[in-house]
Amino acid sequence: MSSPHETTNAAELTAAGLTAAGLPPVRDREDLDPRGKKRDRSWPPAPEPLPFPVIDNHCHLDFADGDEQLSVHDHVARAAAAGIDAQITIGSDLEAVRWTAALLAAPDCPPSLRGGVAVHPNEAALHARGHDHEGRELPSLDDALAEVSDLLRGSGMIVVGETGLDWFRTSKKDDRARQAQIDAFRAHIALAKELDLPMQIHDRDAHRDVLEILEADGAPERTVFHCFSGDAEFARECADRGWYLSFAGTVTFKNSTGLREALAEVGLGQVMVETDAPFLTPVPYRGRPNSSYLIPLTMATIAEAAGVDLEPACRTVRATTQDVYGWPVGDAA
Ligand SMILES: [Zn+2]
Repeated sequence: MSSPHETTNAAELTAAGLTAAGLPPVRDREDLDPRGKKRDRSWPPAPEPLPFPVIDNHCHLDFADGDEQLSVHDHVARAAAAGIDAQITIGSDLEAVRWTAALLAAPDCPPSLRGGVAVHPNEAALHARGHDHEGRELPSLDDALAEVSDLLRGSGMIVVGETGLDWFRTSKKDDRARQAQIDAFRAHIALAKELDLPMQIHDRDAHRDVLEILEADGAPERTVFHCFSGDAEFARECADRGWYLSFAGTVTFKNSTGLREALAEVGLGQVMVETDAPFLTPVPYRGRPNSSYLIPLTMATIAEAAGVDLEPACRTVRATTQDVYGWPVGDAA
């Protein structure tokens, strides 16, 4: 497990006696921010805890970040202290997919943790090409999808994701990469229906095409736009179709007026909250490491933009998340 590119599978990881506590993250988050500047890697202080607990429905515990290495158990404990009493961790490339399956199958996996896996759209493009950015050989897209399908049947898996289209990273000229993304997206839609699981969508600069494919194939009953990035009009289109919008730290960014308008437009009925940790750290800690314990900052903005007090907002968001994932069962403490 030392190298992220050793050929291991989830069964081998757990058979090797690895516990959740002993499972090291698969990889490090980049040390540079998107502008190429060195990031501050110190963990932000814990915000005031939420008045009612919510669930982080999308994070990546397979990533390491920060000047101090946090274990899965550390992330869970910090989250609980801040009023985030459950988390869904997402594995989005083959290594992370296997890691997530092994974590969820580990005997000491925290009971407040569930997960989901998929071949991320940008990974689909790499599988179609046959090698990763460093030139290392990758299995075919079909083989990757088959492994995802297999592992989604394992313990603790409650969602197919993240899948969708990323037109930001793949240019219009790269037909093969775009087609691989479309093929993978459609395969995941079929898989979510077959397994009767909710599906989390990654939609970057691809609103129209994502919507078209969902309409053409028929969206899974529980379809979630992870890290929703559309405007008020697109939010309305999604909400009218019965889909769910999950907001990340981006909603707190100064220039994200469109996201706050989207919340004002649709209200909280089909809204959830997430971190996408270790990425998308909310204001005022942009660029620093992110973890579920920072959700109170994002939740405060969501409540304000929707025009609802924080406690009822948390109750509504929690109830929606429980409905969508069928978990956690029972009332929050
Ligand atoms: Zn993500």
